[in-house]
Amino acid sequence: MKTNQGDTIVINKSVMEFSKVEVFWTKGVAILGMILFLSLILFSNKSFSQVTNLKNTNTMNLLNDKIKDLKFYELPYIYDALEPHFDKMTMEIHYTKHHKAYYDNLMVAMKDNPESKTLSLLDLMKNISKYPVGVRNNGGGYFNHHLFWNILSPKPQSLPQGDLKLEIEKEFGSFENFKNEFEAAAKTRFGSGWAWLSVDNNGKLFVSSTPNQDNPYMDIVEKQGIPILGIDVWEHAYYLKFQNRRPEYVATFWNVIDWGKVEELYKKAKR
Ligand code: MN
Repeated sequence: MKTNQGDTIVINKSVMEFSKVEVFWTKGVAILGMILFLSLILFSNKSFSQVTNLKNTNTMNLLNDKIKDLKFYELPYIYDALEPHFDKMTMEIHYTKHHKAYYDNLMVAMKDNPESKTLSLLDLMKNISKYPVGVRNNGGGYFNHHLFWNILSPKPQSLPQGDLKLEIEKEFGSFENFKNEFEAAAKTRFGSGWAWLSVDNNGKLFVSSTPNQDNPYMDIVEKQGIPILGIDVWEHAYYLKFQNRRPEYVATFWNVIDWGKVEELYKKAKR
């Protein structure tokens, strides 16, 4: 009995001591946890706004870069930034596989060409008829995707303003008319390609579409100009989310176009 009582007292003491220690640790851990949690929120917000801010604010700078100096630029936002409109998996595969392959293949195709040290990307595209089809496809693919990423934004300016708004209304009658014409170009492009809004040699806006990875800079297109807005209508741009429903993808595109970026390109094109 004594032994049992003694045991009980010892157990009670140790339980009390354990409780004190437990309270200390529970409070301590709770406070530490809260600090960690708050700093995580602050940190993640900070880094989120950093990655969603467009890093490459001067989209067209790379046009004057020599071919050998071209880089595979970072996507200006995180892969799921355009959700729910453009899904994370499509963005990740599109950027890391498709866009990357165009870049790598262009570099390989031009590696032994001495012109890669002196020729700018813009001059290459303007004279693309003189180059092998691999340079045309991969050079176009490299540039077109760079433009595409940079006119999209998780926090877009949803409509054109100022001069571009006026010019769209002047050329197409209304923004709605322009939208219809652009959507028609995107939807009716047979197979793979792009639809564009560009500025022509007289400073006028026009809508066009090109097959494969051609673009309005190239000397092989029907009408040349400076592209300021483009939509990729290759199946790889929409098939995972929209399957064969290209019109739905095209309709969704309007939600992520940053017209502020398009206006910047328009102003440069007019200079
Ligand atoms: Mn693509």
